[in-house]
Amino acid sequence: MNIHEYQGKEILRQYGVKVPDGHVAYTVDEAVEAAKKLGSDVTVVKAQIHAGGRGKAGGVKIAKNLDEVRTYADEILGKTLVTHQTGPQGQEVRRLLIEEGCDIQNEYYIGVVLDRASSRVVMMASEEGGTEIEEVAAATPEKIFKEVIDPVVGLTGFQARRLAFNINIPHELLGKASKFMISLYTAFVEKDCSIAEINPLVTTGDGEVLALDSKLNFDDNALFRQKEIMDLRDLDEEDEKEIEASKYDLSYISLDGNIGCMVNGAGLAMSTMDIIKHYGGEPANFLDVGGGATAEKVTEAFKIILSDKNVKGIFVNIFGGIMKCDVIAEGVVEATKQVGLEIPLVVRLEGTNVAKGKEILEASGLNITSANSMADGAEKIVSMVK
Ligand code: ADP
Ligand code: MG
Repeated sequence: MNIHEYQGKEILRQYGVKVPDGHVAYTVDEAVEAAKKLGSDVTVVKAQIHAGGRGKAGGVKIAKNLDEVRTYADEILGKTLVTHQTGPQGQEVRRLLIEEGCDIQNEYYIGVVLDRASSRVVMMASEEGGTEIEEVAAATPEKIFKEVIDPVVGLTGFQARRLAFNINIPHELLGKASKFMISLYTAFVEKDCSIAEINPLVTTGDGEVLALDSKLNFDDNALFRQKEIMDLRDLDEEDEKEIEASKYDLSYISLDGNIGCMVNGAGLAMSTMDIIKHYGGEPANFLDVGGGATAEKVTEAFKIILSDKNVKGIFVNIFGGIMKCDVIAEGVVEATKQVGLEIPLVVRLEGTNVAKGKEILEASGLNITSANSMADGAEKIVSMVK
């Protein structure tokens, strides 16, 4: 789960990570009020969307007085920002962060992620802050330094100092920078983050080390014990189809292709997408209906797949292990009738009661193409949507 920059900064502040003063604003008047409260010489008006790259897209503006705050707030609120992380459709701005401007000496990058290769949390840092870290990694990988963190001892003082030293933080600020890193690591662990990225971390003219941006991502599997994080969820920032799917406990992720996939089991869902691509098609989604999908769940899954206007055909690939194939077939028939399916549908069933399942599909009189294997099904649906 993702949260906004201002919410992330609030959490970081609780852990002793220094951030500039700021307030959230939903309207232009609130923005001006917030700027008055801050009373700083320079105020920054920042679009709050769940995507980075706002600066380049015109979503971060420096205001020198209250009139400018008003002008920029008016300009940014309601605007659809298109950044390299929003996709071409962009994201509408509904909230602003009104923040005190700070006197930046230098911008750095700090990221905390889980490294699956080492099964450890890793802190990465670079003196190339403010730019996209992917570009730094591609062009000058030697400018990214990493510390692998032992979960028992946590990020140690010497590791933090070594990182700060490697990225050329001025010597007199090494102590503040390493305290910053240790606080960031503590927040990451205690809040069950999957990513904590500060880009940029800045050093200022008055000798401070501050987080100027914050991107915190949380592990969905830990949200049950992070109730106050759950409260920060902003549905306006999420894909409508994904919100609908989460209501029915369906694992759904929308993609750009035109073949809707309905599968049980995450592994089978991944290989279904692979085999569609293998035969030259493009999956429209990842969808795992889970082990105990009922007819109702299957119907909802169909509706979600069909609400995607790009979908030109559906491939149902189900392995009946705990679930029986005849129950699934009934669900598919029921759903097809309810939603009035008009596009090709290929169904591959395997497992318990498969013969009975296929009989039900055939007897339904509906336009359903049965497949004998995963490869057969993928090939059929790809040729049907072409
Ligand atoms: P994004 O990563 O989405 O572009 P950032 O929060 O990183 O947004 O802001 C982009 C740039 O704007 C920063 O690299 C920094 O140079 C400038 N900036 C952001 N916040 C402030 C601030 N409070 N004071 C001064 N400059 C800022
Ligand atoms: Mg940034």
